[in-house]
Amino acid sequence: MILKGGRVIDPASGTDAVLDILLEKDQAVKSGANLSPQFPDETVLDCRGLWILPGLVDIHTHLREPGYEYKETIATGTRAAAAGGITTLACMANTLPVNDTPAVTRYILEKAEQEGIVEVLPIGAATHGLASERLSDIGLMKEAGIVALSDDGVSVGDAGILRIVMEYARRFNLPLIEHCEDPATAKGGVVDEGETGTRMGLRGIPCVSESVIVARDILMARWLGAPIHIAHVSCRASLDLIRWGKDQGVAVTCEATPHHLALTVGDLFQSDYDTRFKVNPPLREEADRQALLAALKEGVIDCIATDHAPHDIQSKMVEFDDAANGISGLETALPLALSAGREAGLTPLETVSRLTVHPARVLNIDRGRLLNGGLSRLVVFNPDEPWEVDPAHFFSRGKNTPFAGKTLRGRVKMTLFDGRRVFVDAANPWGLKPVPDKKA
Ligand SMILES: [Zn+2]
Repeated sequence: MILKGGRVIDPASGTDAVLDILLEKDQAVKSGANLSPQFPDETVLDCRGLWILPGLVDIHTHLREPGYEYKETIATGTRAAAAGGITTLACMANTLPVNDTPAVTRYILEKAEQEGIVEVLPIGAATHGLASERLSDIGLMKEAGIVALSDDGVSVGDAGILRIVMEYARRFNLPLIEHCEDPATAKGGVVDEGETGTRMGLRGIPCVSESVIVARDILMARWLGAPIHIAHVSCRASLDLIRWGKDQGVAVTCEATPHHLALTVGDLFQSDYDTRFKVNPPLREEADRQALLAALKEGVIDCIATDHAPHDIQSKMVEFDDAANGISGLETALPLALSAGREAGLTPLETVSRLTVHPARVLNIDRGRLLNGGLSRLVVFNPDEPWEVDPAHFFSRGKNTPFAGKTLRGRVKMTLFDGRRVFVDAANPWGLKPVPDKKA
């Protein structure tokens, strides 16, 4: 297959240029100007005006299987990922049962092999049952194939256990991904505890609930010489601490979600208590969103991660206090990330790096690059095409998105995984027309 005349954006090689891409039978990716087909049956696609990116790497996804198949399955979640341009995803351990043993890790990997259409990398629980009491089977799970540790949904609450987890994480070369939330100060909260949240009359989660754990984790990582990755950062004080940690030489990295980069508690207020805006950590004030954008530009935020959290309708169609947290985010991530990048003053190459090589580096995996020996996993993207988000058309079982009815700019046209088309934009396959034969 030849993709002709697209703008190739590959942060790993620093490439941002109009090039032809040739995908060979052995899945090697070659690039050049004016490549022509070697075989008569080769498909040539006209990609002029389109972008060609490496397949995205999402470091933070909830696939819900095993245990919550009514919310999402590995089959539907990986199809949603492909539709979003994501070809590698790391899935969180808070399933039922929790992924805290090699048996669950193997189950996820086997299921992904049979029913998944993109690469699924399981994250193992740091502690048994996410309970912060004793360690999970870290060594055996590593052998079975986990790529990171996380009790996401909650923090590793006990600092003594955290110390041992970090020592194991360092020894097994597994990044520890922390959901930073102090339960004592966040207890019962459902919105940001600021002016807007207070006006809404709902119980708040203050920024300090996040920042106090970020501080603890960075100090612990500095003491132990262990890496730490902070999930879904939401407020300015946390970013100041992460910046300080980086300046100190601590191996601290972090991610922000497209929704925290795009929305504030003010949007929730204006939505009239719409539970689709309920996430954890909660949407914050505009000053925090501006701090996130500045940190994205500065490089304090390493990755953009979806925190894809699909839910069934019943979990959201209840009173705000009782509604589940989370947004179904795989299928809207790329246009939202690029629009945040534009707002923050990043080049497309810089934004794409936060969705590809940077998360791959955190996970210690060779992914997220296209040229110079990368895999034939790529995304063809129309950067200007407007489209209205209609969750009824989501591949994900989770229809819970605050972006429903909103018009986003930029649409995934096609996703290739190891040379196979795992997604083609059926609604409007424009841009994938074959190049006319010159002789004809
Ligand atoms: Zn989380």
